[in-house]
Amino acid sequence: MGYLFGLLGTLTLVKSASTLQAEQYLAPFARGEKICAFALSEPDAGTNSFNIKTTAVAEGGGFRINGNKWFITNIDNSDALLLVAKTAPSGKEAVKSGSLSLFLIDLPNESLDYTPIPKHGFNYYKSNQLFIEDLFVPESALVGTLGKGFASLAPTLNAERLLVAAGSIGLARLALSSAVLYASERVVFDVPIGAHQAVQHPLAAAHARLESAWWTVRQAAAMEDQGDQSAHATALANTAKYVAVEAAIDACYHSLQAHGGAGYAREYHQERWWREVQLFRLAPLTQQMTLNFIGQHVLGLPRSY
Ligand SMILES: Cc1cc2nc3c(=O)[nH]c(=O)nc-3n(C[C@H](O)[C@H](O)[C@H](O)COP(=O)(O)OP(=O)(O)OC[C@H]3O[C@@H](n4cnc5c(N)ncnc54)[C@H](O)[C@@H]3O)c2cc1C
Repeated sequence: MGYLFGLLGTLTLVKSASTLQAEQYLAPFARGEKICAFALSEPDAGTNSFNIKTTAVAEGGGFRINGNKWFITNIDNSDALLLVAKTAPSGKEAVKSGSLSLFLIDLPNESLDYTPIPKHGFNYYKSNQLFIEDLFVPESALVGTLGKGFASLAPTLNAERLLVAAGSIGLARLALSSAVLYASERVVFDVPIGAHQAVQHPLAAAHARLESAWWTVRQAAAMEDQGDQSAHATALANTAKYVAVEAAIDACYHSLQAHGGAGYAREYHQERWWREVQLFRLAPLTQQMTLNFIGQHVLGLPRSY
């Protein structure tokens, strides 16, 4: 997931970096020589990004930034940070007037302090609380247009959903293939356990769901490749994220079940995959928000938030 949040930062830069920023950062990011972390989430704002409290105040040729973020993944291992801060009012006013701005900050930086949040899975990356105290950045750190940070992030959102969708399916395919192998080899009542329909059918059904989700992901990804940012493309990206994650969670669960007690043991990967796949329901976007999008923009139901 570190790569995922990092990619969100990098993709935004591809679309919105100044010539100078592109020259300095994009080539090393693309080559994997440098990594960019991404800091949007805050404890008090939740999914409502327009309510973030981190502020960037104009001051003598630059901006003074103060605030707190959480779950900032891989910042401890990154060379730069794409930070989202508020440069205008909160709430509905902010949505109307534009309010969020993006800043690209070199790491490490003495005005940034972070501490890891112990977490359920994905422990090969740290996700951190981030404290920003009196950070001064020059005007050249601004990415895109002042107050239009959300507009800069928006064109990356479909790609982000598709990355999660494809990543979930990849993980689930691995879980499924290892379950098939185990169910073919493990003999309990004289035959391999995979001969029992109670073991075989959930695996076959998981395969069917994954394949179906995969074709939705492919179709949405083809539209993304063509630069399609239409409402239809966005609806399909949200649909792909939703169905792929649900199919992946189901496949990881049945992979664990097919392994019996071994699936619960740290020695096997099943319990870790089961823990880790849950993240995709929550981050970087919750399943509820994909359903909000589909409910409102595809089905035409009233906006719920
Ligand atoms: C391991 C991990 C790594 C992360 N890495 C990063 C990172 O690098 N950078 C970063 O900026 N962020 C990161 N995040 C944060 C992540 O993007 C957020 O946790 C996620 O967007 C959800 O926001 P929240 O946790 O504030 O949930 P909340 O917004 O508090 O939501 C809580 C629950 O309420 C539901 N809910 C809220 N509003 C509505 C509504 N209107 N309709 C229906 N349901 C609703 C949500 O779907 C959710 O189930 C990470 C999170 C995790 C767990």
